[in-house]
Amino acid sequence: MSSSKDHGPLTPQTELVTSGRDTSAQKGFINPPIVRGSTVLYPTADDLHAHRGEFQYGRHGTPTTKALQEALMALEGPNCAGVGLAPSGVSAISTTLLAVLKADDHLLVIDSAYRPTRNFCDGVLRRYGVETTYFDPLIGAGIESLFKSNTRAVVVEAPGSQSFEMPDIPAIAKAAHAKGALVIDDNTWATPLYRRSLDQGVDISIQAATKYIGGHSDIMFGTISANAKTWPLIAEAIRMLGVCAGPDDVFLALRGLRTLSVRLAHHHRAGLEMAYWFANRPEVLRVIHPAIESDPGHAIWKRDFTGATGLFSVVLKPVSAKSVDAMLDALKLFGMGYSWGGFESLVIPFDCSSYRTATTWNPGGPALRFHIGLENTDDLKADLESGFAALKAAD
Ligand SMILES: *Cc1c(COP(=O)(O)O)cnc(C)c1O
Repeated sequence: MSSSKDHGPLTPQTELVTSGRDTSAQKGFINPPIVRGSTVLYPTADDLHAHRGEFQYGRHGTPTTKALQEALMALEGPNCAGVGLAPSGVSAISTTLLAVLKADDHLLVIDSAYRPTRNFCDGVLRRYGVETTYFDPLIGAGIESLFKSNTRAVVVEAPGSQSFEMPDIPAIAKAAHAKGALVIDDNTWATPLYRRSLDQGVDISIQAATKYIGGHSDIMFGTISANAKTWPLIAEAIRMLGVCAGPDDVFLALRGLRTLSVRLAHHHRAGLEMAYWFANRPEVLRVIHPAIESDPGHAIWKRDFTGATGLFSVVLKPVSAKSVDAMLDALKLFGMGYSWGGFESLVIPFDCSSYRTATTWNPGGPALRFHIGLENTDDLKADLESGFAALKAAD
């Protein structure tokens, strides 16, 4: 719990700083120790027989994991009954799906889901007898017609991976609950700071904490936040599958959480500034960022989110692949690589057409996904000016 002092309800910004800190148990230190441990000793045979003690075995929890779980629970809000920790975002997703599904179940998955989520459904889940149907991210309440008698869960993600479609999650959740199905949300883009999905009808909210929670491109980590109805399933699956995260990564995730609000405020501001800058470039056909007014998902973003982060896509006017590569090679501040959510700016070219099945990806030109980091935006614009000059020269 947050220190020994009593206080009233706090804003999420303050909770990020104060929660999960038991300074008296830490001999006055602000941060918990990085506890490395498997065996936990019991003082007496009676304690051993009764499994008495706050911690029983390293895989089941340590003072370090407890601090992170408490801080994440405070961030998720009152609808969160428990938080599971996983060694990666993909592990958080696969653990959740294995926790709630069984053979002969049917699963609905948003067509714009993170690609490895689809791979898990089409690979492991299919082998285990679970059928997956992909649906149009913009389906809204119309999802009702896709439910079968054995539909167990719906997987959503907002906005969509790479393509940034904005689904109406409260409407999807309402339809799912009317049919007795669970709603699982990959909330990595917004984090619980900018959208508390458990307050919007979602039963299980997943974070690839590798991204903004860690925030420094130095850990792989995943979290599973569940409501009271689903937490027993998640807790059981974590135990049975032996899912646990390394102590250094647990500590770094907690450290990242402490500065999440200032980092995200910058990503929000700088991301929007860069999105508008791209929108005014002659080389750009379209910017896909739900927080800009012209975006088709803007109304939902405004209703459901309290902020935007630094990841969005840009569609260029038709130009050769060679010219796009010349632009990418000319950039010095935008690194080329997967993942995002760290302090640095990144870019990748992408084409979703081979991994969308319920919708067609046809943006009208080459697509680039940008992550706007913590650099000065004037420096980023100057770097992109050189990139666009190289693109033009190669055309
Ligand atoms: C990166 C990412 C993941 C996977 O996280 P890892 O930690 O890389 O396994 C899952 N979902 C989304 C939306 C992501 O961007």
